[in-house]
Amino acid sequence: MSGAHVSLLPVDDGLLDLLDTPTASPAWPGFPDARRPALSVVTTPESADRAGGPAGEADPFVRQVIDAACERLLRARTELDAADQHVGDGDLGSALARGARAWLDDPGEGDAASLLQELSARCRRAIGGTSGPLYGMLLLRAAQALADGASWGDALRAGVTGVRELGGAQPGDGTMVDALQPAADAADSGIDAVVTAAREGAARTSDAVATKGRASYLGERAKGYEDPGATAVVMWLEAVREAMSQQ
Ligand code: ADP
Ligand code: MG
Repeated sequence: MSGAHVSLLPVDDGLLDLLDTPTASPAWPGFPDARRPALSVVTTPESADRAGGPAGEADPFVRQVIDAACERLLRARTELDAADQHVGDGDLGSALARGARAWLDDPGEGDAASLLQELSARCRRAIGGTSGPLYGMLLLRAAQALADGASWGDALRAGVTGVRELGGAQPGDGTMVDALQPAADAADSGIDAVVTAAREGAARTSDAVATKGRASYLGERAKGYEDPGATAVVMWLEAVREAMSQQ
């Protein structure tokens, strides 16, 4: 997440000597002198995992649908951050908005599979936290399935299976999987059924005690709050439906 972290450490001379001991560790760049702390800037290697270029014919329809989903998540930033304050660390809206911005500032091109693969790479890089890798996985598996000729329903199911493998969450654990899995199950019945199933699944998270993610630290106290990750899924699925109806 973005933000600042302050750690307070009671020290004595012995500990200060240890803190001043030179080290080549990248995670602890050390200070010139712990008695006079200075700011250190650590540069992290930029992951160069840009997806391959467009494979098939450009698909402007899918591109518009992705744009619409991203625009919806940009608008939802404050709302989702506020919802995440109840059960998490209050950054989900900002995190997903970073992903949406990374796409909208420079939308990808190509066929449906290439678009999803590029979106996956952007999400992985821009969102961070827990959601970044999970959305990266969702979109990558869906892209791979589409490239192999799968239907949209099978692509969504492949993506959700990937999210479950990576995060280890099952339906009922109080995460975005509670919206994604019912949506995937309903995928052959059309987008209206998908949105309805996701919305019902998300609503159920407010009755459950979360067993995955930060909300699980709260136990019973997270009850009564819908999981914001599940809410976000409903939001972008609604945007997908709206964009599809305008075609
Ligand atoms: P964090 O701040 O904990 O890194 P994010 O803010 O990026 O997480 O995302 C929080 C959302 O991620 C939760 O609302 C939940 O829907 C989802 N989530 C958390 N853990 C898991 C998991 N293990 N599997 C699937 N989804 C998860
Ligand atoms: Mg968070």
